[in-house]
Amino acid sequence: MIMISVTTLGFPRIGARRELKQALESFWKGDRDAAALQATAAGLRERHWRLAVAAGADSVPCNDFSLYDHVLDTAVLFDAIPASHRAAFEDDPLSGYFALARGLQDGRRDLRALEMTKWFDTNYHYLVPQFEPGQRFSLRADKPLAELAQARALGLDARPVLLGPVTLLKLGKRTDGGDPRELLDALLPAYAELLATLKAAGAQWVQIDEPALALDLDDADRAAYRRAFDALAEADSPQRLLATYFGALGDNAALAAQLPVEALHLDLVRAPQQLEAVLPLLPADRALSLGVVDGRNIWRADLDAALSLARRAGERARWLAPSCSLLHVPTDLELERKLPGPLKQWMAYAKQKIEELRLVAGALAGDAAAEGELAQAASARAARLASPLLRNAQVRKRLAAAEPAMTRRASAYPQRIALQQQRLKLPLFPTTTIGSFPQTAQVRQARAEHKAGRLDDAGYRAFLENETVQCLREQEALGIDVLVHGEFERNDMVEYFGEQLDGFAFTSHGWVQSYGSRCVKPPVLFGDVARPRPMTVEWSRFAQDHAAKPVKGMLTGPVTILQWSFVRDDQPRADSCRQIALALREEVLDLEAAGIAAIQIDEPALREGLPLRRADWPAYLAWAGESFRLAASGVGDATQIHTHMCYAEFNDIIDAVAALDADVISIETSRSRMELLDAFVRYRYPNGIGPGVYDIHSPRVPDEAEMRELLDKALDVLEPAQLWVNPDCGLKTRGWPEVRAALRAMVSAAQGLREAARAEA
Ligand code: GLN
Ligand code: ZN
Repeated sequence: MIMISVTTLGFPRIGARRELKQALESFWKGDRDAAALQATAAGLRERHWRLAVAAGADSVPCNDFSLYDHVLDTAVLFDAIPASHRAAFEDDPLSGYFALARGLQDGRRDLRALEMTKWFDTNYHYLVPQFEPGQRFSLRADKPLAELAQARALGLDARPVLLGPVTLLKLGKRTDGGDPRELLDALLPAYAELLATLKAAGAQWVQIDEPALALDLDDADRAAYRRAFDALAEADSPQRLLATYFGALGDNAALAAQLPVEALHLDLVRAPQQLEAVLPLLPADRALSLGVVDGRNIWRADLDAALSLARRAGERARWLAPSCSLLHVPTDLELERKLPGPLKQWMAYAKQKIEELRLVAGALAGDAAAEGELAQAASARAARLASPLLRNAQVRKRLAAAEPAMTRRASAYPQRIALQQQRLKLPLFPTTTIGSFPQTAQVRQARAEHKAGRLDDAGYRAFLENETVQCLREQEALGIDVLVHGEFERNDMVEYFGEQLDGFAFTSHGWVQSYGSRCVKPPVLFGDVARPRPMTVEWSRFAQDHAAKPVKGMLTGPVTILQWSFVRDDQPRADSCRQIALALREEVLDLEAAGIAAIQIDEPALREGLPLRRADWPAYLAWAGESFRLAASGVGDATQIHTHMCYAEFNDIIDAVAALDADVISIETSRSRMELLDAFVRYRYPNGIGPGVYDIHSPRVPDEAEMRELLDKALDVLEPAQLWVNPDCGLKTRGWPEVRAALRAMVSAAQGLREAARAEA
């Protein structure tokens, strides 16, 4: 019999009904004051703690809550506040905090937001800590102290969660370009002081999150880890739980096992085999926290596997927990109303995951009732895996029959582009956009009315047709060469396709925080993917019928659909991706047959799917690239395939990007002022490229000269015949006046280039 406690490493903050989102947005609008916002936040914390305890947690984390982002909270905790924002911060810490998160323009101040980027391989975005020359750290411990006090006042045994010092520095950037790890010695005294402060406030344990231990580390990183944890061991500290997650410790296992802490958390979902590897490395007095249910997905866990892992860990096992913080899953499955068929019985959100852990703990303690429920859970899981809903024999047959030749275009790029040019007759430096045009309040309202049944199908259709035609007229008036239909019929670039494909289901309460108040509701990819009927052909044909110039077909790529969904765990991701690709291939061919001469397949998430460890990159890039090519390569030489990528640094995967063999790639570069193109210089990429010439994420409208300068920079490394002119992403979040002004300047910049080229000839 093993006595083991149940806990979590963190709980979703946003609220099952996105209460935090609503509170934040009304605070930002000025409809709610700071006290009301803080009251909502405190209410959510209390509700979530109580919910966790009711579900079976013996102890709960605290300070896992955040009004915006836990990495920003940690930067502020140690006073890493850029000089530019300090005055705003001193005036009012809350508005200073939001100024760091979102920027601030109030007539008096014009402050930029911190850079934002993806948290490891998740779809959560954190704010990048910014360290300045002479950076000093001091402690502003009010937030963790307040949350600890709140939990203790409720009679809870709460464990403050802290982002560890090495991960914090590695996630940050120094404005002078130096190595943030050099700041470790300056940070550690403040960190030690924090531990002492929390101990004095009654904390028995602290949780120190070091997800960077799952990354490839160099000697300097390893030295930093030893120095940091040695220093913290000297502090007057609560007991320390060192939390690692998102992957195997791998070659960092010995390092992590020997850092002087009282307990170590292992992600045994991503890496169940690492328990065997780590056990012999652990010093005798080290306890374990076992991450045995998936904090990144929504399926009911394999509780028998969890049970045997816990048995294997034996006496060392102190806690059972999800693999990582539950931040990445929705709150409570019980709220779901519209999931089809048996899906709900197959799934678990945050609350249900704690219940699963409780069952395992019960069974370990020899509780007969728990054992019975465990058997029930096992049969529910087996029922899913055996369900005919998961399998589509036709899809499997067609995929098995897919030949390697299906992933290659018929001819090489030089032959293709000649035929495409004959067909499309584009000028030098062709102009285009990335797909979406403003999703105005009217567009969103019409969609909502239609969904609610107040606007009938015919009325909605007429509205969308009108929007599309208007959008084409706008593009023609601006003089754009390759048009788009504007995507007014689409709610979201993944949901739109998932809703039309077999194998996907949609939730009503499956909200997950993406950043700040932004949430997404990922589709649930539960079964084999098939396309019962064309998805985009009607709208593309309609648009092409209403325009003389070519209109690009517009699809979301297989990797992006996979990456932004909750994915089935009973087969490799690569297999699911190929199924999506096969469905998209049919769509591409139908578009071609409908006379569409250019088809764009967006893959904004290609980069973020990259595994955390470099050793795993080639395998991922191989299947991801193959899936894209399977979707794209069925067309004839004269059909032009475009792709689009954004949100990322592509320099280190440029070969894989080139291997997609798209005829044209549009890619985000404007924020990095075309630095990205360095990679293309080294690589000598031969196909068409549209390096985005302006940043659509900002309301600022750049002028023609600014775009021309970027284009001239691009021409330093690209051939004129390769260069396309386009914004760096879709325009759906912008308003029409800015879009018109920016695109007018963009078209003029392209015309200026053409004139210069003619003058030279
Ligand atoms: N075609 C999509 C759009 O324009 C691409 C969006 C994206 O890259 N995230 O909205
Ligand atoms: Zn984009």
